[in-house]
Amino acid sequence: PVIIRAEQVEKYYPQPSENRIQVISPTDLSISAGEIVALLGPSGSGKSTLLRMLTGLSAPSAGVVYWHEKPISTADVNVSIVFQSFALFPWLTVLENVEAPLKARGMEATERRKRSLKILDTVGLDGFQAAYPKELSGGMRQRVGFARALVVEPEVLFMDEPFSALDVLTAENLRSELLELWQKKTIPTKAIFLVTHNIEEAVLLADRIIVLGRNPGHVRTDFKVSLSHP
Ligand code: ADP
Ligand code: ADP
Repeated sequence: PVIIRAEQVEKYYPQPSENRIQVISPTDLSISAGEIVALLGPSGSGKSTLLRMLTGLSAPSAGVVYWHEKPISTADVNVSIVFQSFALFPWLTVLENVEAPLKARGMEATERRKRSLKILDTVGLDGFQAAYPKELSGGMRQRVGFARALVVEPEVLFMDEPFSALDVLTAENLRSELLELWQKKTIPTKAIFLVTHNIEEAVLLADRIIVLGRNPGHVRTDFKVSLSHP
């Protein structure tokens, strides 16, 4: 079933202006349960802008985003975002970072801790709960980012260039682990939306790829894809 549906969403900056720049031209898209969707495009093509509109962080200039066919403004939205820069709280331990969103939701301490330790174990951070982000490598920090995003069991997990700050090998490892966990249904989320400028990453991870062209906001439908078999 369809979880998120964008209908003719557009975005321009600055909002009220004669010489505004269109960043997203009218776009339809949907995200359904069970799929990994990649949004692929070069830097500046509007990927983050589209992600922000789908998650409700920013309002479209025109068009509507629906969650379960309800406009996002009135819908019950449960999302998490994994950022390229990790965006961890440096003054909190790994465990406290992961607990933070549960604390913000008012969850009781024992339950909070139990869930956080479980998800840390899932992402391969067992034994690191007392460490601080600065003591960890980039790859381990992003594991904390994943754990913090997943601990709330988001209906859709959004990832904005989650592997771009990592070296190639670390990125590859983390990517294939994520895919394995997803395929084993160990990740508590129904769908994944991945923003990336890396075509290989999109092809390896996604069930479906949406491409934004170099000209801001133009969803390209003119791609011809040929598959070759060895
Ligand atoms: P991407 O994620 O693909 O790199 P972005 O969505 O960040 O692209 O940006 C798309 C375009 O919109 C860029 O030209 C960027 O400078 C511009 N832009 C993004 N956010 C704003 C904003 N708040 N105000 C003005 N311009 C913006
Ligand atoms: P909105 O108008 O969509 O609610 P904002 O204007 O508050 O969003 O900006 C959203 C994000 O875009 C912020 O994180 C901001 O830092 C970033 N941003 C602002 N201006 C630019 C720009 N010229 N290029 C790229 N990103 C920008």
